[in-house]
Amino acid sequence: MIVVEDLHKHFGGFRAVDGASLEIAKGSITGLIGPNGAGKSTLFNVIAGVYTPTSGRVIMDGEDITGLPPHELFHKGLLRTFQIAHEFSSMTVRENLMMVPAAQSGETLWNAWFGRKRIAEEERALAKKADEVLDFLTISHLADERAGNLSGGQKKLLELGRTMMVDAKIVFLDEVGAGVNRTLLNTIGDAIVRLNKERGYTFCVIEHDMDFIGRLCDPVIVMAEGKVLAEGSAAHIMENEAVIEAYLGR
Ligand code: ADP
Ligand code: MG
Repeated sequence: MIVVEDLHKHFGGFRAVDGASLEIAKGSITGLIGPNGAGKSTLFNVIAGVYTPTSGRVIMDGEDITGLPPHELFHKGLLRTFQIAHEFSSMTVRENLMMVPAAQSGETLWNAWFGRKRIAEEERALAKKADEVLDFLTISHLADERAGNLSGGQKKLLELGRTMMVDAKIVFLDEVGAGVNRTLLNTIGDAIVRLNKERGYTFCVIEHDMDFIGRLCDPVIVMAEGKVLAEGSAAHIMENEAVIEAYLGR
C-alpha cells in the first residue's frame, strides 16, 4: 500500500532520515520501533506531508504522493493522528468529532452554501456518526465531557476516533502509548485491532512498549540513525544482534 524509496530528510547538515526504504502492506498493522532520535517521527512527518523530503519517494497504491500536502493525503485516506489542539479543549468530545470532516477538508464556508434546515440535518447526521464512533471505541460515556478534561489515554482514543469520522485507509500513530495506563493502552490496542479487522484500516504504529508492539504488530520495522535496520516478526527482531546493539548503544 505504501512504498518508501530511499527517503532522506536532512535538517541543515543533520540527516534525520538517511536513506530509509520500507513497505507497508495493505491490511497490516506495521510496527515502527527504534531508539530515540532514530528518525521515526520525521519519517512519519514526511510520509504524511508535514515535511517535504530532501530526496526519495513515497508511493501509495502505485501513485507517487511525495510532497503532497496533508489535506490532499487526507482525501486519499492517509491520516496521521494529531494531539487535540488547545482551542478544541473546551469543546466536548462529540463536538471535536463533529468538527473533523469540515475542518480537514478546508471547507470552512461550507455552511454558508446551505439553508438552515439543511445545516440542522447535516449536524444531526454528524452527531449520529460521532456517537457511533464513541460507541465503537467504548467511550460513549465521555460524549459530553470537555476534551480538555480527558486523561492522556482517553485523548488518544479520541484521536483515533477522529480518523473514523472520515474514510481513512491508512493511519499513522506516533507513540500511542506514551503516558497511558495499562488498562487504557489495552483498550486502544483493541480499538486498533477492531478497526483493522472490521473496517479494513491499515496501520503504521510507532510505540516504545514492546509488549504492545508484540501483541499487535506484524511486521515490525526497526529504524536506527535514519535508516531501516531490520524487519520481521516481533519475536524475530528482538533476537537480531544489530537491533540489540542499536538499543544498547555501541
Ligand atoms: P524519533 O521519533 O525516532 O525519536 P525524530 O524523527 O523525532 O526521532 O528525530 C530524529 C532526529 O532528527 C533527532 O536527532 C532530532 O533531534 C532531529 N530533528 C527532528 N526534527 C527536527 C527539526 N525540525 N529540526 C532539526 N532537527 C530535527
Ligand atoms: Mg518520535
